[in-house]
Amino acid sequence: MTKNVKIAAKHRLYIYLYYISLSCCATAFLNIIHTLVALKIELTAVSFIIPVLVGLLFGAMLAHIKTLSTAMTEIAYTDSLTQIYNRLHFAHFLDIEIDKAKRYGSTFSIIFFDLDNFKDVNDNFGHLVGDKVLEKLTEVVSKANRSVDIFARYGGEEFIILAPETDVNGAFAHAERLRRDIENFEFKTVGHITSSFGVTQFIAESDTLESLLDRADKALYMAKEYGRNRVEIA
Ligand code: GH3
Ligand code: MG
Ligand code: MG
Repeated sequence: MTKNVKIAAKHRLYIYLYYISLSCCATAFLNIIHTLVALKIELTAVSFIIPVLVGLLFGAMLAHIKTLSTAMTEIAYTDSLTQIYNRLHFAHFLDIEIDKAKRYGSTFSIIFFDLDNFKDVNDNFGHLVGDKVLEKLTEVVSKANRSVDIFARYGGEEFIILAPETDVNGAFAHAERLRRDIENFEFKTVGHITSSFGVTQFIAESDTLESLLDRADKALYMAKEYGRNRVEIA
């Protein structure tokens, strides 16, 4: 699941409209009550205009704070280059999935992958081109993922996918599809690149978060050992 963390202009507008109208209504209502009940005088145009102006100001302030806090939360959970989840947020999803699997007996798998010989891409074309490859790669993979899959940048040019309700065979098939998609994609300037995958399924009776990730890492290591551009299961 790829999340674009930039708060969309439309979304930002909704936040502002919501808080401003809420605030205007509240201040206007309080002022009308105050005018009629406490001051016991008749309503005039000023009774409406002033609270609406106060409401506008107050609502804009609230909306601004809300927009900032949403943006900050998303920045903390997102990889700045690729705009997908970062490792920290991935661990949070993984914790939840492990709890679910232990409690309800559901199953899930992990797909861990790393680009092959990526140092050569940087060495031959420069770091900025390497960055563009990573950005494009996340698009290619995101397109092939299901909406329920949790996709994150684990670090450098290593990525990880949590595939809920998926056994190791399903995860293997998915990893194979991704491997082929990456291999077949023509990256601008660089051309074709390949990737290696490690796949493993969560074992509710014995696994911890660490043992699961360790197994996926070992499978990836095997894929590299056996010649790269392949998927290995642990
Ligand atoms: P292998 O097939 O064994 O994985 O070989 P590799 O060259 O890909 O080796 P390794 O995975 O150990 O190295 C990763 C390289 O990826 C090293 C680093 O320069 C590069 N890299 C890591 N993060 C970034 C990044 O954010 N941008 C760019 N452009 N390069 C990165
Ligand atoms: Mg690599
Ligand atoms: Mg690496």
